[in-house]
Amino acid sequence: MNKAKKLYLETFGCQMNVSDSEKIVTLMKGIGYQQTADPVDADLVLLNTCSIRATAEQRVYGHLGKFKSMKKQKPGLIIGVGGCVAQQEGERLLKKAPFVNLVFGTHNLHLLQKMVTGAEQGKQSVATDFLDDEKRFDLFPHAESEGGVSRFVTVMQGCDNFCAYCIVPHVRGREISRSADKVIEEVAALAAAGVTEVTLLGQNVNSYGFKEPGAPDFADLLRLVAQVEGVERLRFTTSHPKDISPRLIACFAEIEKLAPHIHLPAQSGSDAVLKKMNRGYTRAQYLDKVRALRDACPEIQFTGDMIVGFPGEDEAAFEQTMELIEEVQYADLFSFIYSARPGTRAAEFPDEVKRAEKQARLERLQAAQKRITLARNESFVGRVQRVLVEGPSSTGDALFGRTGGNRATVMDGDPVLAGRLVNVRITQGLQTLLKGEILDV
Ligand code: SF4
Repeated sequence: MNKAKKLYLETFGCQMNVSDSEKIVTLMKGIGYQQTADPVDADLVLLNTCSIRATAEQRVYGHLGKFKSMKKQKPGLIIGVGGCVAQQEGERLLKKAPFVNLVFGTHNLHLLQKMVTGAEQGKQSVATDFLDDEKRFDLFPHAESEGGVSRFVTVMQGCDNFCAYCIVPHVRGREISRSADKVIEEVAALAAAGVTEVTLLGQNVNSYGFKEPGAPDFADLLRLVAQVEGVERLRFTTSHPKDISPRLIACFAEIEKLAPHIHLPAQSGSDAVLKKMNRGYTRAQYLDKVRALRDACPEIQFTGDMIVGFPGEDEAAFEQTMELIEEVQYADLFSFIYSARPGTRAAEFPDEVKRAEKQARLERLQAAQKRITLARNESFVGRVQRVLVEGPSSTGDALFGRTGGNRATVMDGDPVLAGRLVNVRITQGLQTLLKGEILDV
């Protein structure tokens, strides 16, 4: 009997890459590869990469060095690089790392089976062409509807916003929406396979739609997906603050299945910095949206992203970011030191903020957020939260799940509850999670 070929797949970066990786696993299964968690077993190593920050890109080259050594021991090992670094680097990547067999860009997953089969016969290949709009979604393969508790469903791809610091529009291409029918079809298939929670995914889901009279916008799409039987909880990510419409805000008040959580990246609290970033909103407009969302859904939890040390951020501008996080009271915040990405507009700006200053600001911001997160987690103690049980906790002796507000929660209970929504009384609020007890099943 032939030994099954093994795929080792590593995913870097955002949820779009996580979703693409699910599709890659399905595609590789189609040509006989079973996934393995141990790279030593692998016949095929695929890295699905991220280039949003310089550190993410450097990590990819670091990892490739490790696999180069493995290939010396196992010359038949096929190594492939996909995702945003692959899109950006293309042929250059093969020059820097000639032991790599294939490079596939963000629009080229549909070619992957052929590229791997070619590599098995010794062919090296690169595919980084952007597809035109009509072809993109038709050619994009789907992940298998093989169940699980919570799954991503891509509703749009690409971005037209060109924030000054961001590489995404350059490596993911222009915005394109998927038809509502196709989205509903995939959600229904997932629900039929037992999936309880669906997260609608896109670089900027708020600008979903075909911009034609009568065509559904994102608020319409949410209402349609909420009607799919079997899906009990609905989420979406990521949202651009400038595109949050009153109709979308109303969804939080009106759609029961819509989880009370929104990831709403502000990136800075300073109008001058926001303008330089080309974000398309002011601090006051951002805060107006936050208030409107809280009015529509008082229990809504906010998470966000913040960039520290963007060119032109002086001490006063940074203070405005510090004030913003106090005002919004994020449940969690992903904060980063600005690093210039070649090819973006901001890479041309003089980068005046010294590295030590950026580091000091990041530490102040993260310390303040740590305090806010803990206080918010403690404020849940005694309250009852609807938790979707995902499975055993990392220690294996309890259950792990998430509240509607997306707070990680552990509680005692029977593993058969995986995939069920249960009422949990929160007994402890810790820095990174809540603890609680199940009230009913
Ligand atoms: S909205 Fe801005 S930050 Fe987000 S993907 Fe588009 S360009 Fe990048």
